[in-house]
Amino acid sequence: MARIIYTETKPHATVTVEQRYCKGCDLCVRLCPVGALQLSEAFSAAGYHYPVLTGQCTGCTVCEIICPDFAIVVSEQR
Ligand code: SF4
Ligand code: SF4
Repeated sequence: MARIIYTETKPHATVTVEQRYCKGCDLCVRLCPVGALQLSEAFSAAGYHYPVLTGQCTGCTVCEIICPDFAIVVSEQR
């Protein structure tokens, strides 16, 4: 089980990032349709910045779908 480096719950979704897989490529940040993600100022143990929620996530799951490393998981709130 990969270690979770970041998790945040917004009204529509919970976004979780797994440290072992995220390489800080910034793709999710650039492709989030509502600009809800930014790379962290902090570094992961692997030495990478990782995405954190700074805006209102809609739960669209685009970030989860496009992450090449399956590092970000979106759980929709019901
Ligand atoms: S979660 Fe995936 S797409 Fe986003 S920075 Fe990490 S590796 Fe890149
Ligand atoms: S689920 Fe959609 S709105 Fe939320 S952070 Fe990912 S791409 Fe952005």
